[in-house]
Amino acid sequence: MLEKVDEFDMEKIIEDFEAMTKDAERVQRKTLKKILEENGSVEYLQGFGLNGRTDPESFKACVPLVTHQDVGPYIQRIADGDSSPILTGKPIPTFSLSSGTTQGRPKSVPFNDELMETTMQIFQTSFAFRNREYPIANGKALQFIYGSKHLKTRGGLATGTATTNVYRNQGFKNTMKSVQSQCCSPDEVIFGPDFQQSLYCHLLCGLIFNDEVQLISSTFAHSIVLAFGTFELLWEELCANIRDGVLSDRITVPSIRSAVSKLLTPNPELADLIHGKCSGLSNWYGLIPALFPNAKYIYGIMTGSMEPYLKKLRHYAGQLPLVSADYGASEGWIGANVNPTLPAELTTFAVLPNIGYFEFIPMKNNRGEQPVGLTEVKVGEEYEVVLTNVAGLYRYRLGDIVKVVGFYNSTPELKFVCRSNLLLTINIDKNTEKDLQLSVEEAAKILAAEKLEVVDFSSHVDLSTDPGHYVIFLELNGEPSHEVLRECCNCLDKSFIDPGYMSSRKVNTIGPLELRILRKGTFQEILNYYIAQGAVVNQFKTPRCVGPNNSKVLQLLCGNVVRSFFSTAYN
Ligand code: AMP
Repeated sequence: MLEKVDEFDMEKIIEDFEAMTKDAERVQRKTLKKILEENGSVEYLQGFGLNGRTDPESFKACVPLVTHQDVGPYIQRIADGDSSPILTGKPIPTFSLSSGTTQGRPKSVPFNDELMETTMQIFQTSFAFRNREYPIANGKALQFIYGSKHLKTRGGLATGTATTNVYRNQGFKNTMKSVQSQCCSPDEVIFGPDFQQSLYCHLLCGLIFNDEVQLISSTFAHSIVLAFGTFELLWEELCANIRDGVLSDRITVPSIRSAVSKLLTPNPELADLIHGKCSGLSNWYGLIPALFPNAKYIYGIMTGSMEPYLKKLRHYAGQLPLVSADYGASEGWIGANVNPTLPAELTTFAVLPNIGYFEFIPMKNNRGEQPVGLTEVKVGEEYEVVLTNVAGLYRYRLGDIVKVVGFYNSTPELKFVCRSNLLLTINIDKNTEKDLQLSVEEAAKILAAEKLEVVDFSSHVDLSTDPGHYVIFLELNGEPSHEVLRECCNCLDKSFIDPGYMSSRKVNTIGPLELRILRKGTFQEILNYYIAQGAVVNQFKTPRCVGPNNSKVLQLLCGNVVRSFFSTAYN
């Protein structure tokens, strides 16, 4: 039977987006009204005295701002099988697990059909804008996507990572077909139980259809860099599989073996072609367009904690455009990238005023201020995002900091800044993930002069010394001299320019920064550890600061240190 594929009219999508963003304030009111009409009588909201009111003023006056911790017990009751209307009028069918890589523990949040619809809406919106600039012909997408196991909660409800809930959904598959981006790999590969085997087969399926591949994508850019790093190691084996039409023994999962074997026939010409292309590359520069000559662009989230991987991605991409994907979370989507030609570092997200009700807590004046509405934000200011969604979260602090960089009609265009929780703090110092990233970028310049790269990095606050000090872990792709590493260590220390840190360093209430160099492959071990815990690669974000509550990862880091240095920058 033929599946029904909804063709969608891209001009219409853009027209709707234009109309909606011209009228963002009214659309926000309407969205809140709809959410509260459907859910106003749920147990959670009952206690706040809304009494049927659905306007933003009453909503803000009655309903408190909350974090995941506050709503966790309500979510837990639903997961445990309480089917009364606790957070939503209609029963919650599914739960999403966030990556948990920033906090060390995945968070469970409700997922329903309405949230799925908003997902498709944002995919279609950004696709319509993207396709205007980089039209793709009918073909395939090499998507490095991985589903997690679908588990059941104690109450028998389905739970999986947010991306898995999306990939399993028929609506997602139909949307991908209608945007001509069908995945090269069969479902058995996407949902396979062994991530390394799935990765290998994604590469193989991409190569089998190499002429048809129109785009290369993943949720977060990290997965693409990881995939082509793996290709560097295994390309000859992949060529041999294509030449002989026989899948390697390393693929042991029967469902993956049988699905991929069906696609493989001996193809010595293709094997020779790939072999020739790879042999002709210098240090793998331009690998992606060399393998996929008809690819139009590379697509995935490249902002925030993904920025450190851009250099490597650009190296593999050569002249092929990189297009950064939209902004959202397991809790819901926020904004679409409607300026796809901007370099990844400058990507902005135009908020879709009908996919949730949004508020913004000003970060100016050291927090503590009341949130403002979507259309009340000011250009140049930073805010924490507060979300009310269609799946039972009300005035929920997402924990992300964004900067308003302009307006698209009357809806703000946001730049992602960082997670709001401070990473590094000992006393009066305050350093975020962004500050750490900038500091590592400075040190990377010294390494670049030696033709070396930072593979990945993390940090830790060591309070076992008196005074406490920052520890920065770096994994490098080569072995610099002691002198170079000493210079990097001092550079890292000096590059934290937060006044609290600098003054504490000067009077030694924070001790000298310590640089610890890790054995090659340490971050791969950390990824494997998270995957063994049930995380999926799609949503993986390297933990940029590891505290004592994440003791296993801290052990992995500390156990892999090969050299360490203390800064003399403030001596
Ligand atoms: P998860 O917790 O796995 O659902 O991941 C959601 C988080 O990923 C968000 O709260 C952000 O911190 C981050 N994120 C999602 N989209 C983007 C983006 N486009 N740019 C930067 N960070 C993002």
